[in-house]
Amino acid sequence: MMDRKKAQQMCLCKMCPSFVECSEEIAFCLESVGKSGCIKEENGCLCPGCPVLEEEGYQHVFYCTRGSETSQH
Ligand code: SF4
Ligand code: SF4
Repeated sequence: MMDRKKAQQMCLCKMCPSFVECSEEIAFCLESVGKSGCIKEENGCLCPGCPVLEEEGYQHVFYCTRGSETSQH
């Protein structure tokens, strides 16, 4: 699995229209991060264009509101 720091550097969440800044960790798709505590509204998701999603073979979206890749299975 990809290193968390590396994933957070590649993560597109901060550019996403759904993103809410509250100083929490990003790369919500990762099991070690998971759902956001502050993003509550789904206003589009950039995950389908993210290199982390592609490299890891992830198949979901809206990780911030719906939970990590493994929790969405
Ligand atoms: S797939 Fe989504 S949550 Fe995961 S690193 Fe990329 S933009 Fe962030
Ligand atoms: S998980 Fe998707 S919807 Fe949530 S902030 Fe990241 S790119 Fe946007």
